[in-house]
Amino acid sequence: MKIQRLKGQSAIITGSSSGIGEAIAIELAVEGAKVVINYSHSEKAAFDIVRGIKKNGGEAIAIKADVSNENDVKDMFKEAISTFGTIDILVNNAGIQKDASITEMSLNDWKLVLDINLTGQFLCSREAIKEYRRRGLTETSCALGKIICMSSVHEIIPWSGHVNYSSSKGGVSMFMKSMAQEVGRDKIRVNAIAPGAIKTRINKEIWATKEAEQKVLELIPYNRLGEAKDVAKVAAWLASDESDYIHGTTIFVDGGMALYPGFVDNG
Ligand code: NAD
Repeated sequence: MKIQRLKGQSAIITGSSSGIGEAIAIELAVEGAKVVINYSHSEKAAFDIVRGIKKNGGEAIAIKADVSNENDVKDMFKEAISTFGTIDILVNNAGIQKDASITEMSLNDWKLVLDINLTGQFLCSREAIKEYRRRGLTETSCALGKIICMSSVHEIIPWSGHVNYSSSKGGVSMFMKSMAQEVGRDKIRVNAIAPGAIKTRINKEIWATKEAEQKVLELIPYNRLGEAKDVAKVAAWLASDESDYIHGTTIFVDGGMALYPGFVDNG
């Protein structure tokens, strides 16, 4: 039988009623973690995922919270901790795009993306760190707690037409590293994942037709689009003690998208 690497631990995965977050929640549950499916609007999808995890012998609850709302985030942690006893793993996954050229971009859409993609990670990480320190070390992990921040290849690749999104992910990179530096001595392990083009609803236009998919494949040296499971496998490993000496690092899960693919034929 497969050893469950996260047995006895609990995890909050933000924005896990779809896409990459859903896949991570399912993967962590398979590894033995009790998981919180956080959603902001998709209640039915969240409860369906909870049912699916329970059907397969896992433990899960769904909690509604807007990660950019301070009170929602505090309430989510309270409910999660009162249900599972503590939280050992936070996956800051929730994120949105609101694309427009810079002169067409409203202040509202600039702020919304920064609020959810960056401030949301701050609010959730702050609560997680407080809980890790309150609880102290347990025998379930070498670390006091783990935080995984969902970034993007656009933390390093500039993205015309998406200045709000790329700024938020550039911010996530420095947020993750500064936090890792600050809380490492407490044995709180902080890392990020930077996905490339993963097939989810956030980027449906890039894989909806063969022509669109072909165009994006030119940007991926490994020559295939990513699946949510590709990211989930890395998240499970990063949450486990197998990666205990990985701290303050971003792991690119992108089929080589960040390798300047324009230079593949000598530039
Ligand atoms: P998705 O749209 O399926 O997932 C985003 C999730 O965040 C959704 O479940 C959504 O409901 C949730 N969410 C949005 N606003 C929220 C809020 N205020 N509070 C709580 N939850 C909220 O898309 P995805 O591709 O699975 O994206 C997940 C993460 O991965 C995002 O941070 C995204 O930026 C990042 N990412 C995705 C790709 C990709 O190619 N799909 C590439 C790089 C990075």
